[in-house]
Amino acid sequence: FLPHLVASLEQVEQTYIMVKPDGVQRGLVGEIISRFERKGFKLTGLKLFQCPKELAEEHYKDLKTKSFYPTLIDYITSGPVVCMVWEGVGVVASARKLIGSTNPLQAEPGTIRGDLAVQTGRNVVHGSDSPENGKRETALWFKEGELYEWTPAQAPWLME
Ligand code: GDP
Ligand code: MG
Repeated sequence: FLPHLVASLEQVEQTYIMVKPDGVQRGLVGEIISRFERKGFKLTGLKLFQCPKELAEEHYKDLKTKSFYPTLIDYITSGPVVCMVWEGVGVVASARKLIGSTNPLQAEPGTIRGDLAVQTGRNVVHGSDSPENGKRETALWFKEGELYEWTPAQAPWLME
């Protein structure tokens, strides 16, 4: 029984984070995972995966009318990606801050895109933009048996 975890249970969010094909090709997988790991979030799903076109289209369906949409679908399906689900209090907004602005030239130094990328069309990582989309995207990219509930040994040292 861990009271410090039970107390904040309703505040726990999930976010879908993905190292995009350029991040994998450029050998940035470990670097990107470590930023979420060091922050103190909990990894509940992780896999290398080459995404079929239909899934990419569903994931980015809100951008269907944008001029860059076809190149975005080509980019995301161009090679394996690393799919992750991270869990924690406030994880959705915090992950977006760790990732930085969509355009890497405008992303602050210290953020993933600010440190590791230069172009919007090659911005190395994805992160859900709301708790609702965190759930939606998790369900889209992961099957039930691929996600794990566990208690990190460090939990009482992260949450009071
Ligand atoms: P995000 O939430 O910061 O990833 O940004 P959006 O949801 O607005 O866009 C999704 C993804 O589409 C971005 O991460 C980029 O990979 C791509 N994208 C967005 N805007 C542009 C653009 O103007 N040009 C190109 N080539 N890609 C874009
Ligand atoms: Mg987005």
